[in-house]
Amino acid sequence: MSSVTLQNVTKIYGGGALKAVKDLSFEVEDGEFLVLVGPSGCGKSTALRMIAGLEEISDGGVWIGDEFVNDMHPKDRDIAMVFQSYALYPHMSVYDNIAFPLQIAKMSRQETEKRVQEAARVLELENYLKRKPGQLSGGQRQRVAMGRAIVRQPSAFLMDEPLSNLDAKLRVQMRAEIAGLQRRLGTTTIYVTHDQVEAMTMGDRVALMKDGVLQQIDSPSNIYNKP
Ligand code: ADP
Ligand code: ADP
Repeated sequence: MSSVTLQNVTKIYGGGALKAVKDLSFEVEDGEFLVLVGPSGCGKSTALRMIAGLEEISDGGVWIGDEFVNDMHPKDRDIAMVFQSYALYPHMSVYDNIAFPLQIAKMSRQETEKRVQEAARVLELENYLKRKPGQLSGGQRQRVAMGRAIVRQPSAFLMDEPLSNLDAKLRVQMRAEIAGLQRRLGTTTIYVTHDQVEAMTMGDRVALMKDGVLQQIDSPSNIYNKP
């Protein structure tokens, strides 16, 4: 586990034509679940991608724990991204989808198997390891996407609209599952969404963005229940 700290992080696209993120500063504490929320185009995804190292930082600094990561390659950052479940490899088994990041990291076969089995147990996927993603329900597929993040045992999870692809009923169920799982694992999490209900119900704190600027950062009740 680690804190994640942003200090005056700015993203300029198109040679100065667009400031997608402006002077963004916040600290996510060890084990905290922060929801980054705001309308489409406000810069949430860009902010998350800069933390992950998938987007160059134009100005400012990002720390994961005590480590300054601005110039660090994405795969050397101790974080795992969780995308929508359709980011799974359709031709690979559930086992291989979950094991994939460990195989990339050249982890031993024995340790890989141990971690995949443990993730499968936590996510109740033990009986589905030989199936292909196409043979699973939407919720199971989303859990496989979570499994792929969990096995790395990262300091932090970065989740980008992981539920936006699911139908309404499943979204409600997976909101609770992801929040519950995060609390059990205690892994520092930044969760990006445009969905106010997710922001209200899932996180310890909510960071509200608009036009690339952080408007407010506070508990869900202080943000949404103010008279
Ligand atoms: P959100 O995740 O809140 O929907 P984004 O971070 O995706 O917002 O986008 C923020 C702004 O930056 C938008 O105006 C978007 O069009 C722009 N943008 C995002 N990615 C790029 C890019 N690769 N090149 C140029 N502009 C981009
Ligand atoms: P190979 O080395 O030929 O890939 P493996 O024994 O590693 O053979 O795996 C064969 C298939 O069985 C894999 O593609 C994977 O989907 C599945 N598999 C491997 N280990 C496990 C396991 N512990 N539990 C469930 N399925 C597994």
